[in-house]
Amino acid sequence: FVHQLADASVPIPELLTSPLHPEPQPALPLPPDLFGLHRANSTGLDLSVPALRAPLLAAYASVQVPHVPEFDAKLASSALLTSASSYQKWSKLPVTERTATLRRAADALQAELPRFCALLVKEAFKTWNDAVGEVREAIDFLRYYAAQAELIMQPQTMPGMEGDSVLGITGESNELRLTGRGPWVCISPWNFPLAIFLGQVAAALATGNTVLAKPAEQTPGVALEAVKLLHVAGVPEGALQLLHGPGETVGAALVAAPGVAGVVFTGSTQVAKIINRTLAAKDGPIVPLIAETGGINAMLVDSTALPEQVSDAVMQSAFRSAGQRCSALRLLCVHEDIADKVIAMISGAAQELVAGDPADLATDVGPVIDREAFEGIQTHLQRLHREATPLLELMKNQPLAKADNAQTAIKQIANLIPPQTFEVASISDMKAEIFGPVLHVVRWKGDPLAVIAQINALGYGLTLGIQTRIDSRAQQLAHAAHIGNVYINRNQIGAVVGVQPFGGEGLSGTGPKAGGPHYLYRFCAEQTVTINT
Ligand code: GLU
Repeated sequence: FVHQLADASVPIPELLTSPLHPEPQPALPLPPDLFGLHRANSTGLDLSVPALRAPLLAAYASVQVPHVPEFDAKLASSALLTSASSYQKWSKLPVTERTATLRRAADALQAELPRFCALLVKEAFKTWNDAVGEVREAIDFLRYYAAQAELIMQPQTMPGMEGDSVLGITGESNELRLTGRGPWVCISPWNFPLAIFLGQVAAALATGNTVLAKPAEQTPGVALEAVKLLHVAGVPEGALQLLHGPGETVGAALVAAPGVAGVVFTGSTQVAKIINRTLAAKDGPIVPLIAETGGINAMLVDSTALPEQVSDAVMQSAFRSAGQRCSALRLLCVHEDIADKVIAMISGAAQELVAGDPADLATDVGPVIDREAFEGIQTHLQRLHREATPLLELMKNQPLAKADNAQTAIKQIANLIPPQTFEVASISDMKAEIFGPVLHVVRWKGDPLAVIAQINALGYGLTLGIQTRIDSRAQQLAHAAHIGNVYINRNQIGAVVGVQPFGGEGLSGTGPKAGGPHYLYRFCAEQTVTINT
């Protein structure tokens, strides 16, 4: 074949002249039954319909959050051995056998949607709307990664010479095959204890890996029920082990144990860096880390924006899920010409929000996850009261101007932080991600690109909202932003599996994006087989 390369008559111009930016690929096929495709930007079930909410409330009355025993961190190495031996079988199954288990689990989850919603409300204090959205997202992850795995795990014949589908330009046949890598440690957060938990696990399993799943210590019950579904659906117990316990002990021991083939982590930037250092210091192979971390997410509003639309997007982005999404809006950068109007609208809309018991159907904003989170946010609020200007005066001490009965609820619900908004002097005042319903507002004038530069300088790169009626400006700002998910003239949460791949850059994570067509590749080893024919 060497002579072929030297022979000028052999046509290889395709490779030499292939354009820098190839033609857009046709969109990959999506499973037609993804919920997100129908839900788009909406909030889930219409709970005002009695027939729809009755099963949820019935499930709430009967469901118990199961007790999950803590895993002894000293047994990490033996859990890894179990996983490695299970990998020998699981990885050799045809991909369609593995994905069939995921689809069965998706069907079971769909059939049990009310029970899982009720668990999310009880254990993670989700509102009903958030709970429904999360169960649907979890089902979508199972089905989407099943479909993606079937697509990418087929051996691929590498391009041959024109008119020859077998022989490559080297005169040989070249085939690219993807396989699993071995046991993966999947460490997931409490804010999506079902969807992110199952997303990580499904991606690893579909690609032929085995899993040691370490759920957030606040939400092991939902994780246990999800694991049971997968076991019943046919995933062997050794291929998926649930190891509950604190990150500092159980998580750390699993990451440090010998034989880990990869780690996927969603949580804080700080912990992602600790994991990265632990992996780097290990003997043996270089272990990949997929980290999806936090963000100091901004929304840029220019003077042409529609204040009503901005207000609606801010309510969703900053306060829904009590601000406990890594995608949530933290910093509203509003042009000074419309700032007063926008702030007035936000204040009015925020007073309509009901903060209270998540089990109450009327609740928009539930409590934060635990005392530690509550106290951390309170410390930040005290600082803001000293250094910034409170904008929602009515909400400051008496957050629920609206409903008397909700006022009562406030007293009874632990760790409730009603939505708060403060005006800060500059973008660079934003030092850390505050994981709660606290919005910071800054006014700007002049060049919006300079605002984007300051947002970029924060170092995070997860979500950005842009509100403008100038299309070319929206495009220009989006391109200038070093941000993974940019949302124009809408809210900036709730990325839809399969169509809005989600994940950030910089301090916000390593990629690849969850729910996107490239995610599964990182879980795989690639093998090129070249045959001299
Ligand atoms: N994917 C979620 C969203 O788009 C956020 C996930 C997270 O908070 O980790 O809102």
